[in-house]
Amino acid sequence: MIYLLTNFIIGSCLASHAAVICEHYNQSDFIFTRSHCTICHSELSLLDELPIISYIFLRGRCRYCHGQISAHLFLIEVIGGFAYIQIDFSKVEGQLTAILIFSLLLVAIYDATHSEFHLVMLLPAFFSISYHINNLFKAELLDYIEAFPILILLVIYIFQKKLGSGDLIIYLILILYFNAHFANQVFLFGSIFLLSQFILEKKDFSKKQAIPFIPYLFLGLVIQLMLN
Ligand SMILES: [Zn+2]
Repeated sequence: MIYLLTNFIIGSCLASHAAVICEHYNQSDFIFTRSHCTICHSELSLLDELPIISYIFLRGRCRYCHGQISAHLFLIEVIGGFAYIQIDFSKVEGQLTAILIFSLLLVAIYDATHSEFHLVMLLPAFFSISYHINNLFKAELLDYIEAFPILILLVIYIFQKKLGSGDLIIYLILILYFNAHFANQVFLFGSIFLLSQFILEKKDFSKKQAIPFIPYLFLGLVIQLMLN
C-alpha cells in the first residue's frame, strides 16, 4: 500500500513537471523552470507546487491573486500518479518504463493543448526502446500480425488526412517497447475514452473538427499499465 502511494506521489510530481515543461516549451530554460501563476505571473513557491495537495488546499485558486487555476493541471497530476502506480523503480525495466511514460506524457500534454508535438519529446522513449532492440529480432512475424489491422487503418487515415502521423508513431513505439497485443489494448481503451467523451458531451459527430487523440491514448496506456 505504501509502495503504491509513494509511486502515485512520484508520478504526480513527474506529471506536474511535465506540464510545466510543456507550458514553457518555447522558452530557453524550459527544463528547470519554476511554475508561475498564469494570471498574475507570481513565481510559485515549493509549497504551492505540491501536486494535487496544493490544488485541493488552495481550492484551485492562486495564493497571490486568487485567480482560478486550470483544473487541467490537477487532472494531469492525478492521471500521472496512476500511470506510475505499478512501476518498480528498483529494477532497470521499471526505470526504462518510467522514462517511456514521461516521454509519452509530455507528448500527450503538448498534443492536448497544441494539437501537435515535437519529435524531440520522444527522445526519452527512443532511449527506452533502444534497450529492447534485441527482443525485436527474437520476435517472430506471428507476434506482429496482430498489429497489421490497426497499422493499415492508421496509414489509410493518414493518407486521407483524417489523422496526423503522430498517432502512428505512438502506436509503433508501444509495439516496439511492449508488444503488438499491448499496443492494441491501449488503442482500444483510448478509443473507448474518446467515444465516451463524445457521448457525454453530446458532440456532433458530423462536424469536422481536429481532436487530439494522443491524450486519450495516454489514458488507455495508464489503464493497460495498471491492469498488467
Ligand atoms: Zn496568481
